[in-house]
Amino acid sequence: MDFQLDEQSLRMAEIGKQLAAEIAPRAADADEQRAIPTESFAALRSAGLYGAGISTDLGGLGARSMAWLATVEQLAQGDASTALGFNMHYVATRIAAELPSFDPEVKKHVAALVIDDGALISAPLSEPSSSSLLPGTFLPTVTATRAADGGLRVSGTKMFASIWEASDYAFMFARPDWSDDPTSVIAFLLPVEQPEHIVVEDVWHTLGMRATRSNKVNITDAHVPAELVLGPIDDFVTNWIVAQAAVSWGGYTGCYLGLAEGMVGWLTENLGTRTAKGYAQPMGYHPTISSAVGRVATHVEAARLMMYQAAWNADTTGPGLGTCHAYLKAKLMLADAIGRLVELGTAAGGLNALMRPRGYERMLRDVTTAAIMPPNAYACAEMAGLITMGLDPSQAPSLATA
Ligand SMILES: Cc1cc2nc3c(=O)[nH]c(=O)nc-3n(C[C@H](O)[C@H](O)[C@H](O)COP(=O)(O)OP(=O)(O)OC[C@H]3O[C@@H](n4cnc5c(N)ncnc54)[C@H](O)[C@@H]3O)c2cc1C
Repeated sequence: MDFQLDEQSLRMAEIGKQLAAEIAPRAADADEQRAIPTESFAALRSAGLYGAGISTDLGGLGARSMAWLATVEQLAQGDASTALGFNMHYVATRIAAELPSFDPEVKKHVAALVIDDGALISAPLSEPSSSSLLPGTFLPTVTATRAADGGLRVSGTKMFASIWEASDYAFMFARPDWSDDPTSVIAFLLPVEQPEHIVVEDVWHTLGMRATRSNKVNITDAHVPAELVLGPIDDFVTNWIVAQAAVSWGGYTGCYLGLAEGMVGWLTENLGTRTAKGYAQPMGYHPTISSAVGRVATHVEAARLMMYQAAWNADTTGPGLGTCHAYLKAKLMLADAIGRLVELGTAAGGLNALMRPRGYERMLRDVTTAAIMPPNAYACAEMAGLITMGLDPSQAPSLATA
């Protein structure tokens, strides 16, 4: 068995590692201030990462799921909020440039905006009543009507819109008012600078991931020009949540993996070197500490292997139920690993681990949302169980759409 990463993934991991070191010093202040560290995003832009998700024929790096996992796994160890926020840009650009139902000319235009002009794109898909336990609730209620110039007029409320305030465009889905099919959506890039039509409500005062500023956005009759209307997606839940598992939620799961590895790294470094009064050996020799570290490191490594297997599946066999199943199990494993980490690692780390300047405390807060972010760990277990039993997940009550 050879579990080596391919050449591109190794290269991207190295870029991610270097950038992690560069963005890490801004993380504490950004967290404290609930501010998007724009200099960190500028560093990602300078390193060429804005085009990571865009295919090489459109001028991008063509980083697919394994290479992207290798990147965010590293980035998140520097600043998890920046990694998670930037992952939304990856989601937006990769889907916008890749989905077969989208207009080829608009794809080229989006690629040029990102690669030539350095545009940053957020991906607000959730709405105030979306529940990460119920995939069906991600079907948008934001509506689009046709505008006279061939573009769109968009109205509604988006919620948890990471990095919206730093972005130039928002990659969004809306319910087209001209369609009778309630599961059909139209995708587009909304220019965010429309103060008459778009108002951000600063509600993002959270425990962790504070620097993502995943705020509420009220949109009233905002304009999307024709050249930014990507096209339709039919049967949204199947085609987005199941078929695009690797991109739509696999990417941010990779950020939480990196974060968990960062926490294990912190514990290893600190407990492996700290010496208690009157003792010659480091604390790590205490059997309670070494078994706690052994357990959490094992759980996180298992989750890492499952994440890479899911990403490898996505890249080699493509979208489908098998790939979605692999991601569901990997996300569940990661949530369980994080549960152990929070319980055992924090008790082993002791009070020193909870001192803000030491760094572990922020990671502990940031990692809290891993099990919550869609699909919620319970939803992962439910869906993974159905697929394991050969049952049809589309028949699950949680996937029902009104
Ligand atoms: C760090 C972070 C970044 C994110 N970034 C993005 C992003 O960029 N784009 C994006 O699309 N999504 C983003 N999300 C949102 C995420 O995808 C989910 O949509 C989000 O977690 C909401 O699901 P939930 O179950 O946690 O919601 P909750 O808000 O807990 O809602 C769950 C259910 O409870 C109900 N409910 C909510 N509030 C109340 C109340 N006061 N009283 C009674 N019932 C209530 C809701 O109707 C819903 O059915 C982000 C989430 C996190 C944690």
